[in-house]
Amino acid sequence: MVIIFLGPPGSGKGTQGKLVSKLIGYKHISTGDMLREYAEKDDDIARKLKETLGSGKLVSDELINEILKNYLKDLDLFSNMILDGYPRTVDQAKFLSNLIGDKVLAIHFKIDEDILIKRIEGRFVCLECGAIYNEYFNNTKIESVCDFCGSTEFKKRSDDRREILEKRLEEYNKETSRLIAYFQENNQLKEVDSSSSSEVITDNILLVIKNY
Ligand code: AMP
Repeated sequence: MVIIFLGPPGSGKGTQGKLVSKLIGYKHISTGDMLREYAEKDDDIARKLKETLGSGKLVSDELINEILKNYLKDLDLFSNMILDGYPRTVDQAKFLSNLIGDKVLAIHFKIDEDILIKRIEGRFVCLECGAIYNEYFNNTKIESVCDFCGSTEFKKRSDDRREILEKRLEEYNKETSRLIAYFQENNQLKEVDSSSSSEVITDNILLVIKNY
């Protein structure tokens, strides 16, 4: 089955994607991570991509669909996976459905915008293992030392700045209601309240998956 994590930036999709995929043995695929990695390359597409990511806008359906298709080609298309950040538009959802069929569960992460903003502004990532922290809600146990790998090097994501965040939220809100309606019509949508603690959110997600 393919599980889609659908929610605004900062709603916890990435953190939960990493945790839940390990717990249930699914592959975790984040299109945001995929694009950020690609944008570090030194070619024309990468330069264009960097500009789009920096503006907070979505990359075109055409480009992201192509990137995802190529990525999935190397995997078993019917393998169990969590898609984090894809699809983001109805066209992407239809493209995915043509690619993998309808064994899909979309989990919508619901959250207030105030909490979201703190979550994003406070977010930092371990350079070594990619673990995600937050200076307000989820700091490292020992100051500036990664809980998982012991690294002392961290970075902030360049697209987590306030002005870019506002654009990202605007982009998300523009498309999301149509996407939610699409999954609802197909009886593929469940919701979790993602303003609670990470542990509670994980438990709720596991429950939703078990009962689907
Ligand atoms: P995320 O880490 O999921 O918030 O994604 C970061 C950025 O990558 C977004 O603001 C978009 O510019 C781009 N992106 C990621 N996934 C998609 C997608 N499915 N469609 C279009 N753009 C995407």
